[in-house]
Amino acid sequence: MSTRATAAKASVNIVTTFLARVQALADDPDALDFTFGNPHEMALPGLPAALRAQVEPRSVDWFAYQTSDRGAQEAVAAGLSAELGLAFEPDDIAMTQGAFGAISLAFALLADAGDEVVIPVPGWFCYEPILHAANLVPVRAALDTETFDLDVDAIARAITPRTRIVIVNSPANPTGRVYPKATWDALASVLDDASRTHGRRIWLLSDEPYRRIRFDGIAFASPAGSYPWTVIDYSFGKVLLAPGQRLGYLALSPLVPADERDELRAAFMPLGLAIGWGFPDAVMQYSVAALEKLSIDMAELTRKRDRMYDALTAAGYEITRPEGTFYLWGRAPGGDAQAFCDALEARGVYVMPGLLFDQPHHFRISLTATMPTIERAIPHLLDVGAEHDQ
Ligand code: PLP
Repeated sequence: MSTRATAAKASVNIVTTFLARVQALADDPDALDFTFGNPHEMALPGLPAALRAQVEPRSVDWFAYQTSDRGAQEAVAAGLSAELGLAFEPDDIAMTQGAFGAISLAFALLADAGDEVVIPVPGWFCYEPILHAANLVPVRAALDTETFDLDVDAIARAITPRTRIVIVNSPANPTGRVYPKATWDALASVLDDASRTHGRRIWLLSDEPYRRIRFDGIAFASPAGSYPWTVIDYSFGKVLLAPGQRLGYLALSPLVPADERDELRAAFMPLGLAIGWGFPDAVMQYSVAALEKLSIDMAELTRKRDRMYDALTAAGYEITRPEGTFYLWGRAPGGDAQAFCDALEARGVYVMPGLLFDQPHHFRISLTATMPTIERAIPHLLDVGAEHDQ
């Protein structure tokens, strides 16, 4: 096995071990599952209808090899332009297999073997394995340990002459934080200075799969509006709560200087091919315009967020109130998240230990669980919380 395969496997080991451990969930109808952000209810009614509408071939080449479908690129560019207030063009968009595929494409597009990529901690547990598989070097930059705000100074300290990309994620997994424009402006100034100091442009990869999942009308700002050298990755898997139907994109900020923008646009197709035919299936791409109009029920998700947050904080839990995503991030009573998660598991309640995010004192709850599941779990969470909070 290659050294990068070994490194990728090692960096995701804790996640695969956890997955194996919670396999029992599939066989236990009484398990109260708050682990991964998977659906627990039947799909949005509009989703199968949108896909079905595109299954019947309309031409002989309906199922031919598809790179980025023009209609999909146009629908995404129009949606993004309206959402972010920047003038995206269809050619700025590369259609991908979800955010996973877009992140891999960004690495192939921007970084050379051995380059360093700064990632947030706590942050999504797949950045590191994807980086290892791409022969790149993850460098961790801690978020603020109390508020989980982006710590721009920590990012500045993590940058070296080998830094090529900084990854940011808002709304953030696992913390649910949404960062304001002022944060991006401060980061842009750090990245500009560091790029000048080291004589090499540092790119920003804005990982935005939860962009449309926000609570209480909180505004969304993309760093693409603050720093021209930004690429955005997105997935439809979150907003549709259908992560198995792989669909997403990588978008170049329209503010990327024109000569670089042309060069990168021209590289989308050959690299999409080179990373293993990273384009989404044809039917998924034909459905984009219809899928752009669909979303999980945010009112129901807000009710679930409020019910869980209010019950836990009233019992003394320290919870970061989610501003976005469908996760709830808290400090484990007693401080030992593994012991806390084990005690919950003994009662049939499964939450994600913070160790998967390099945070041994925290845990994450996925609010994709149903309201009845939440109601059944709350008494257990309160009991176990009281037992551990010595
Ligand atoms: N980025 C973050 C922060 C995520 O949480 C995830 C999925 O959990 C992804 C990217 C990948 O999204 P997808 O599986 O839809 O490609």
